[in-house]
Amino acid sequence: MQSAWGPLCILCELCDLLNLKLLMVLFDRQSVQLTISGNPVKIHIVSTGAVSVKTKFREATKTGLRAMLDFILDKKFTEWMPIWVLIIEHPEGVFVIDTGENADVNTPGYFRSSGIFANWFDTTQFKFQVAQDEEIGPQLDQLNIPADKIKAVILTHLHLDHIDGLKYFPSTPIIVSKKEWERPFGDLPKLYPPWFKPTLAALDERCDVFEHAHYLTAAKDLVLIETPGHTYHHCSVLLKADECSIFFAADICYTQNQIIEEKYSGTNASHKMARETYDKVKRFAKSNKCVFIPSHDARASLRFQELDPLVV
Ligand SMILES: [Zn+2]
Repeated sequence: MQSAWGPLCILCELCDLLNLKLLMVLFDRQSVQLTISGNPVKIHIVSTGAVSVKTKFREATKTGLRAMLDFILDKKFTEWMPIWVLIIEHPEGVFVIDTGENADVNTPGYFRSSGIFANWFDTTQFKFQVAQDEEIGPQLDQLNIPADKIKAVILTHLHLDHIDGLKYFPSTPIIVSKKEWERPFGDLPKLYPPWFKPTLAALDERCDVFEHAHYLTAAKDLVLIETPGHTYHHCSVLLKADECSIFFAADICYTQNQIIEEKYSGTNASHKMARETYDKVKRFAKSNKCVFIPSHDARASLRFQELDPLVV
């Protein structure tokens, strides 16, 4: 960061460091206990490291290819953002929503097998900071949740920072929307573990305003819902607790403010779908108290702790 003192100002370096420290506190694991039909359910959000993207990747004034060109030419990166994973200790078993990033992402050549474009794109448009003990496996260990207790891993979509923790779940059922699997957008299949053959969910049920849904529990209180835009069949996960719903929004948007202020990222598969998803989420939030958790929203952990709902 530059200042009137010039590029080597030690105060700026300190500010950056302090800023990072403050942000990292926001990324600390948070747990809350709610009830479902009177039964306790423990919910945790853990950040598997941090990511930074181009500012115009996170929020764009244009759409489609013009938005892409804008962020590629953008020289500014955002502050560090979390990579949230949601863990639900439900009466029917433990569910892990997305698997986050892993420390190997910074190994030189990590993206090479995905081709020249992917290698260039993923090493120039994103920055990652992931320590080994921030990966989902060690964090589940810290929560005393053994792998064999996990009933299923649910993936919202197939992007790198949502699937790179799959290596910890070779024997766990993994559920993905059938349509997301058949028509992914911006995924890197060369980075999938060789054994990765998820259970494909058809999303042929309905949940409130969401026409494409798949109930994950017999009690119908945990639901995979299609919230397209970021990818053509991007999904979110909704947990309906007695106190409120927890809406794990994945990459519908990067911060809660974006949906309130109708601002969009520079990287939607379909801007029209993204707009329709914003409308649906708002309609849902108007009649259901829900805590809204985008995967990269640093403020989500505070709202989660305080059960501070999305107000639109
Ligand atoms: Zn994504």
